[in-house]
Amino acid sequence: MLSDKHGRTISYLRLAVTDRCNLRCYYCMPECGIDFVQRKELLSYEEMLRLAQIHADMGVNKVRITGGEPFVRKDLLPFINRLSAIPGIDEVHVTTNGTVSAGMVSQFKEAGISGINLSLDTLRKDRFFEITRRDQFDEVMRTFHQLLECGIPVKINMVLMNGVNDDELVDMALLARDYPVDVRFLEEMPFNGNGAGNKHLLSARMIEERLHQAFEGITKLHSPHHETATRFSVPEFKGNVGIIPSFTRTICGGCNRIRVTPTGQLKTCLYDNGVLDLKALLRGTADDSFIAQTIRSAVDKKPKDGFEAERQIQESSNRESMATIGG
Ligand code: SAM
Ligand code: SF4
Repeated sequence: MLSDKHGRTISYLRLAVTDRCNLRCYYCMPECGIDFVQRKELLSYEEMLRLAQIHADMGVNKVRITGGEPFVRKDLLPFINRLSAIPGIDEVHVTTNGTVSAGMVSQFKEAGISGINLSLDTLRKDRFFEITRRDQFDEVMRTFHQLLECGIPVKINMVLMNGVNDDELVDMALLARDYPVDVRFLEEMPFNGNGAGNKHLLSARMIEERLHQAFEGITKLHSPHHETATRFSVPEFKGNVGIIPSFTRTICGGCNRIRVTPTGQLKTCLYDNGVLDLKALLRGTADDSFIAQTIRSAVDKKPKDGFEAERQIQESSNRESMATIGG
């Protein structure tokens, strides 16, 4: 088992397969002037598969593919197919903006995808353009409906921002009434690639208050210790609604996850700066057991929470883009 000095077991790996994206969500990336990493600096699929096997041997049983936009990387589905076949990996999920995957959805199950987190911050086409700086709302909705038709479990992630899209809280939540999906509201984090901070933060507490005002009979559900979302059921709803306190970080005590960035940096906390250069290890002479041992010692030192991780880094990392972290 992979565990840390605070007694948390790590069973969930988030693998960012690219830093590139076809959208430019303003809370994630600047509109232009982005230095995407060169291809040779990205972990290859073979390197990622080796890493996944090493992690699986230490008890990691769930992998999430993220990015950047994972589907802009070529041959993603054959990679996921091989990943999901690794003994010990029980679930492979993908977080996507849904803009380029519509044509592939029918192949998802066969590839071994257990569920999709679809990022959608608005149901208004004009606002979608304002937030993402691209006109691809219709493609996302097409992906959404195809996912439902194919029976793939869907969670909608909405970054809920004060004065930007918070007037759509109820309309977005109603997607969980009309469809069997979970709709989760995320706090804005300061990883936007330009150091501007999370100016439109709406705290989890405020979001919860608004949900209570909007939906009579809304009830908090019991969730597993490692669950990041506080989940609620609402009478007559097919799915649930949830809140992810990604900035106020009240969930760190149950954290069971680690991250690998597109360039192979191990992050034991979303808010750290990378604690281990896995790419150097993978491309050097280290064998799997040495790499596993090195990962174990890095994970052992996982910060107690995101605030401790932030204190430990020398310079504020909030100039970083979420696309280089993987969300
Ligand atoms: N491109 C894919 C997508 O958008 O779903 C996957 C990568 S994206 C970085 C992963 C998640 O992080 C998305 O749900 C996105 O909304 C969220 N995200 C990005 N920047 C964020 C920020 N500054 N604060 C909160 N969530 C953010
Ligand atoms: Fe791209 Fe996802 Fe970042 Fe939006 S949130 S710019 S879709 S990586």
